Amino acid sequence: MIKGLEQLTLVDYPGHIAATVFTGNCNFRCPWCHNKEISYINPDAFPTIPEEEIIEFMRSRISKLEGLCITGGEPTIWEERLLKFMGNIKELGFLVKLDSNGTKPEFILEAKKRNIVDYVAMDIKNIFEKYAETAGLITLDIEPIKRSIEILKNDFPEHHQFRTTMVPNLVFEEDIVKMEEYIGEKIIRQEYKEPRPVE
Ligand code: SF4
Repeated sequence: MIKGLEQLTLVDYPGHIAATVFTGNCNFRCPWCHNKEISYINPDAFPTIPEEEIIEFMRSRISKLEGLCITGGEPTIWEERLLKFMGNIKELGFLVKLDSNGTKPEFILEAKKRNIVDYVAMDIKNIFEKYAETAGLITLDIEPIKRSIEILKNDFPEHHQFRTTMVPNLVFEEDIVKMEEYIGEKIIRQEYKEPRPVE
């Protein structure tokens, strides 16, 4: 499940000193993805770090770190295995931040119900008409995305963010303004960076 660990980040968790783990695999195929090797090109080529190793690392950082960010790939596709891991991290007293593409609203709700997630950041890929194309897919059911937007607004009122990567020739400012009108709040624009070539 876990393919990478960044031992210290001052930017991934707003307002907190944290570590970040990267989960492998994703249900999207964004052509501009910065983690495409672990997301969908060849996640199996990367060694898996056992959850126990991360838990031990976090135990060694109690009083030094405030939280753990979980990003990917798309973390929520790991379902119960990830929920269990998040529970273990919470038991150590850390804050947990989840990054998601919003395709698994039931995961986000379940994590909220178990009180094992403190903050959720969700990618808004584009206007709904261009969502599948931006995610590198032929078709996409948009309903789960809409549901996740509502969950973040209602269940994480002060503890969420929506963000968009401004992909040239695909995501336009007017698209994001439209999505802000739909969501009813600000979307953070992230600068597009050329993905590294796959070796
Ligand atoms: S949803 Fe995120 S991790 Fe998945 S392919 Fe797109 S950018 Fe990469």
